[in-house]
Amino acid sequence: MSSKSAARRATRRAEVFAAFDGKCAYCMTAPADHLDHVIPRAAGGKESRFNLVPACKPCGLSKGRRPIAEWVRILAQATTDDTD
Ligand SMILES: [Zn+2]
Repeated sequence: MSSKSAARRATRRAEVFAAFDGKCAYCMTAPADHLDHVIPRAAGGKESRFNLVPACKPCGLSKGRRPIAEWVRILAQATTDDTD
């Protein structure tokens, strides 16, 4: 039973990675190295393909346990495109 659910998890992981072409869903440039919960499990997010996206380590560390909307707001306030 546990090996079956591990197989399901592996399939879901492969499907989610394939949907984003192996790239991080947040920065869309770095190769993803893990699945991130869009809505953190602590906030009621489920182990569903609709709540899992591939993410790279810097994005995962930056987002942490924040809800996605809060993290995006922080990025939007911190980042400009006027760097040159
Ligand atoms: Zn990223």
